[in-house]
Amino acid sequence: MTSILKPGLTMQAEQARHDLERLLYPAANWVQPSTDPEGRPVLDVLVVGAGMCGQSAAFGLLRAGVRNLRVIDREARGREGPWGTFARMLTLRSPKHLTGPDLGIGTLTFRAWYEAQHGAEGWASLYKIPTLTWRDYLLWVRDTVGIAVENRTALVSLKPEGDGLRATLEGPGGQETVHARKVVLALGREGSGSLRWPRFPSFDPRSPAASGRVLHASTEFPFAPMAGKRVAVLGAGATGFDNAATALDAGAAQVTLFARRTSLPQVNKSKWTSFPGFFHGFINLPDEWRWKFLTHVYSEQVPPPHESVLRCDGDARFAVRLGEAWTDLVPGDDAVRIETIRGSHVFDYAILATGFDVDLMERAELAAFRGAVRLWRDRVDAAEASQHAEASRFPYLGAGFELMACEGTALPSARNVHLFNWGSAMSHGQLAGDIPGLAVGVDRLVQAIASDLFVADAKKHHAALLAHAEPELKTTRYYVAP
Ligand SMILES: Cc1cc2nc3c(=O)[nH]c(=O)nc-3n(C[C@H](O)[C@H](O)[C@H](O)COP(=O)(O)OP(=O)(O)OC[C@H]3O[C@@H](n4cnc5c(N)ncnc54)[C@H](O)[C@@H]3O)c2cc1C
Repeated sequence: MTSILKPGLTMQAEQARHDLERLLYPAANWVQPSTDPEGRPVLDVLVVGAGMCGQSAAFGLLRAGVRNLRVIDREARGREGPWGTFARMLTLRSPKHLTGPDLGIGTLTFRAWYEAQHGAEGWASLYKIPTLTWRDYLLWVRDTVGIAVENRTALVSLKPEGDGLRATLEGPGGQETVHARKVVLALGREGSGSLRWPRFPSFDPRSPAASGRVLHASTEFPFAPMAGKRVAVLGAGATGFDNAATALDAGAAQVTLFARRTSLPQVNKSKWTSFPGFFHGFINLPDEWRWKFLTHVYSEQVPPPHESVLRCDGDARFAVRLGEAWTDLVPGDDAVRIETIRGSHVFDYAILATGFDVDLMERAELAAFRGAVRLWRDRVDAAEASQHAEASRFPYLGAGFELMACEGTALPSARNVHLFNWGSAMSHGQLAGDIPGLAVGVDRLVQAIASDLFVADAKKHHAALLAHAEPELKTTRYYVAP
């Protein structure tokens, strides 16, 4: 997918580049070149994942003069992240004026981009940001600031190599090994663990009987075959309602949304955390307080946006069955039988809107680190950990989003793996997941990486300082030759 720029946008991109030039972007590279013990050149940073967080991290690094980097994404251009794939809402849930991927540069904001195409009136009449419009905006920022993403290139495995890292990548040209001093894992929501599949006695998500009839809402699948069919949706969050609405739009005969709870959550606690004090200060709270804040936020659950509810409600084909937990899911060749605490139902399709599980250590890419890095469960007492099982599986990260080796484990490279995705939330708050905290998160990540790269090379920098002999007074009569 290439971007075709409208004339207004071309001018906007020129203005933004002019601003970047005034800010001396990209800064000159200052990192000392390095090689591994066998003399092979080493990347300073490998950024894995070019969704919103990965591309913003790369932008921040280039701005800080860390230029020996590569950015990869396993998906094709335009398919990074949820926006063009499984995000089925019509608009973003956030308000239109949010900032983040611009990293504080006015001409790179969503508003500037939108006004360049639709004028001030267009901006005033925009209600919320259409999902694909946000995807296109992200691509425009990426191109304007000059981030070269290697698409269709996946990180297959990451292994410690002394205090550096050895990454195996799989791309269009086959497999390759890359040696990197730092790796930023910006793998997105699913990249903190995996899709959450609920457990039922008769259902195995890997079984072929399930394929095609039982679908996970956070994956891509066609809705056209649902025309004239009966569709069940499990889960009453935003994704549940958005999938129900998409099935209705596709002409489903009947869509029934089930939830265990007897009423929908009413308050979005996560929204309360979206202010600068929380973004900057959360990391400095003692563990006990970080745990208290975020376990409360997560245990409250997020209400579906009213726009998503209204998309479904009022359609005679739509029904909600609250307080009706599923007890079994039996996929058959022609239909799916769903047992609930109230009875038995037959549908043609079942969509599971059950979100993502956080369990970083289950990621295949990180198998070499399994059992060796700290998790939140190591920081709280056993009763708390079992009460908040998911929160306890989040990695316990350091101040620069770095993994931390378990006590007594010799794994110096762990601190060179920076987790910049949803999995960082228990440690840092929501700085690498939702849009509003993104710029604060990028700043923190970039400062940590730049600082580590500098400190590790202190000797080389000191030698460079001693060798530094640029005469300042050559054009004056006070010049003294060295
Ligand atoms: C449906 C949905 C709606 C959302 N709406 C909002 C909203 O309105 N407002 C808000 O603030 N937030 C919203 N969010 C949350 C957040 O903004 C998004 O999840 C956003 O995409 C996060 O960006 P990211 O870079 O962390 O992840 P992603 O955008 O998902 O990017 C991660 C990238 O990593 C790549 N990747 C993964 N594994 C590998 C690998 N091994 N090798 C190479 N590449 C890999 C993936 O291909 C992907 O492109 C929403 C999230 C979802 C799922």
